[in-house]
Amino acid sequence: MVRPDFPRSIIEFQRWFPDDEACRDYLISSRWSEGFRCPRCDEQVAVLLAKRLLWQCSACRYQVSLTAGTVLHGTRTPLHLWFWAAYLMSTGTPGISAVQLQRQLGIKRYETAWMMLHKLRRAMVNPERTSLTGPVEVDECFVGGLEHGLRGGRQRGTKALVVVAVEVRGAGSGRLRMQVISDASADTLCRFVQDAVAPGANMHTDGWPSYRRLTKLGYEHHPRTQRPGRIAVEDLDDILPRVHRAISNLKSWLQGTHKGVSAEHLQVYLDEFVFRFNRRRTPMAAFQTLLGLGSHQQSATYEEIYAVKVRPTPVRDPPLR
Ligand SMILES: [Zn+2]
Repeated sequence: MVRPDFPRSIIEFQRWFPDDEACRDYLISSRWSEGFRCPRCDEQVAVLLAKRLLWQCSACRYQVSLTAGTVLHGTRTPLHLWFWAAYLMSTGTPGISAVQLQRQLGIKRYETAWMMLHKLRRAMVNPERTSLTGPVEVDECFVGGLEHGLRGGRQRGTKALVVVAVEVRGAGSGRLRMQVISDASADTLCRFVQDAVAPGANMHTDGWPSYRRLTKLGYEHHPRTQRPGRIAVEDLDDILPRVHRAISNLKSWLQGTHKGVSAEHLQVYLDEFVFRFNRRRTPMAAFQTLLGLGSHQQSATYEEIYAVKVRPTPVRDPPLR
């Protein structure tokens, strides 16, 4: 099983997906890697009703939608715009805002751009995601505008509190989890760890008392406290460098790309940030997941696909390598 290659640049992307027809062909090769097979009569020959994005079985005339179960289903927005949106969203490190998407793709209405991003974001929450494995750094942070008069520490005011866990992998980071939480109590933080991290993992935290329970829960807990009298940011970064790097990247993304995000929508943006971070080395998988093609990762050559096709199509640069 070979995963299709991914365009290495915008130029290449444009060459692979110049129009709706190319996108449709890609859709077919992603979902029907072994060619058409009628779900009703098992026939292997079909006619492509291109305009309506349907296969029609040559034997029993049963019709199969090319887009059923994907984000592309029932949309009036052209396929190639969807492909562009998914590409920009899955590859651009900072992601993309609705305003940018509207401008870059020349979409008439802001609402259309916003709805596209919204639908693509829904594909970013994967309920079957596997647990992080140790060692893992965990810490919390506030996300939101500046607020004065708070005592510091874990007092939250009206800002959102977010807990972040990241795998330690050599000098770098592995996978990431982020979640909006209601408070920094032992119940809340330890429940997050239990949901996100495999049992028994090596956990690195700061000296916040809520994390002490982790030992009782079977984790190998390594709290690290700052030296007294020295709580400069540099020192904090030395204690949990990966989680703090992730937090700082998150904040500049929220501020830079989205000009801040309200607390009620924050989790959706955290999911997007985590999705892209965790797939930074597999952009093709990210792209397909966003479009809803993720469950059929097998690739196929165009010859295999078009062997079952009745109508000939012009030859073009295939998106599959
Ligand atoms: Zn049939």
